[in-house]
Amino acid sequence: MYDTQPIAASSGQSATQPAVRQILNFIDGKYRGTGNWFDKRSPLDNRLIARVAEAGCAEVDAAVQAARAALSGPWGGLTVAQRVEILYAVADGIERRFDDFLEAEVADTGKPVSLARHIDIPRGAANFKVFADVVKNVPGESFEMPTQDGAGAINYAIRRPVGVVGVICPWNLPLLLMTWKVGPALACGNTVVVKPSEETPQTAALLGEVMNAAGVPRGVYNVVHGFGPQSAGEFLTTSPGVNAITFTGETRTGAAIMKAAADGARPVSLEMGGKNAAIVFADCDFDAAVEGTLRSCFANAGQVCLGTERVYVERPLFDRFVAALKEGAERLRPGRPEAEDTGMGPLISQEHRNKVLSYYHKAAELGATVVTGGGVPDMPGELREGAWVQPTIWTGLGDDSPIAREEIFGPCALVMPFDTEAEVIGRANANEYGLATAIWTTNLARAHRVAGAIEVGIAWVNSWFLRDLRTAFGGAKQSGIGREGGVHSLEFYTELRNVCIKL
Ligand code: NAD
Repeated sequence: MYDTQPIAASSGQSATQPAVRQILNFIDGKYRGTGNWFDKRSPLDNRLIARVAEAGCAEVDAAVQAARAALSGPWGGLTVAQRVEILYAVADGIERRFDDFLEAEVADTGKPVSLARHIDIPRGAANFKVFADVVKNVPGESFEMPTQDGAGAINYAIRRPVGVVGVICPWNLPLLLMTWKVGPALACGNTVVVKPSEETPQTAALLGEVMNAAGVPRGVYNVVHGFGPQSAGEFLTTSPGVNAITFTGETRTGAAIMKAAADGARPVSLEMGGKNAAIVFADCDFDAAVEGTLRSCFANAGQVCLGTERVYVERPLFDRFVAALKEGAERLRPGRPEAEDTGMGPLISQEHRNKVLSYYHKAAELGATVVTGGGVPDMPGELREGAWVQPTIWTGLGDDSPIAREEIFGPCALVMPFDTEAEVIGRANANEYGLATAIWTTNLARAHRVAGAIEVGIAWVNSWFLRDLRTAFGGAKQSGIGREGGVHSLEFYTELRNVCIKL
């Protein structure tokens, strides 16, 4: 089972505290423990909330073998229509157990319930339906060709699954980003072994119950828990039984995974870090730009790959815009996930908080003007032990500072003035990352011009995080390799085979 007996007694918790869960691996349709356990602590108050079974080589091998066997089992014999029906049942299963997924995601991340209820869980379910619809409707190509004997030949393309897909996931939107990969992988007829982040093991494990209930054959969906190097992540990416690897996470982890995938020349899809710029022109709709920029800087405590950490504001608007951002940031109340007035949750862990705070300290040392925040909020009671930081806005540093160049992945932004369109395009592009941008202007020609000039995978105009799941998603430069989403996912999750028939 995903959630077995409480083990509070052995973990030093009082009887009044919620039970500590055991989170198991899900291999070949069954939950399996191991001899090794690691602790999962709540980001809210550092309380032990789960003990997680760490998969070793043996468990990862078993999961990969189960996934290989399932390729040629009942799963491999299904028609597209039958697969589509099962994936719809998986989506419905998530909806049916919405509250369980919500509770598990919020427990692991500490994020506000209102956020997880509207984004994480519904999008996690939708990913199965969207990709089921894509494979159901995908057209094929065919070409007639002349031959010397006059009879001719016909070429047509068919798509086949790539095989066993290793899925390595981050912690910031755990269910959503995992199903974003598992949905298309299964829709295309592959089998998967998922390695969720060590920080957020619960929803991936819970999905195993839904898979079984939906009639997904055993071995099609497997979950192994653990860390990266010398743990489940590395064992999975180096396993010769894995045919392709899809990854979301930090750029340097992606590079390590790409090296691992070179053995056996296996394809990778990498969705990686960002240092996204918002560009606010003086002709923008001021209120919309402020509201959108506040969301892009602070949603999910800034732990969104597409989030903004650099804000370029045209000089005539600069002071007014900074003042409005300050006011908005100071309205964001940190608090418990279930409280209605909570505007921001904690960071994912103490370790991540240390990283974010190191940038807060660095900004101060470099002489930044701290417009708001810059430290740790004063939290009541046991929340004092949690991974909280203040939403933070700086001015007074330039593009060459580490605060403007490096991904911090926290609720913070450096705001800088600019004078001309050409200048701001150059500055936004002068960064090794290229994931997303948000452009705020009411000048239509400028909107098109700037969106075409910024080197990113996604350019939003007068919006942020507005996602049509049929569109291509991915990063330019060091933010990624490959595109997923809609039919673009087919390029990674299928092999295109050309059949040439001589008539
Ligand atoms: P991370 O790279 O630390 O970890 C991601 C996953 O990789 C985890 O499951 C981890 O255990 C695993 N891992 C680590 N080292 C590994 C190795 N050597 N071999 C195999 N697996 C390994 O990333 P994170 O801290 O979980 O997530 C935050 C990062 O993810 C940020 O950089 C953020 O920008 C990025 N991100 C990108 C996107 C995108 O779509 N581009 C989306 C979300 C998050």
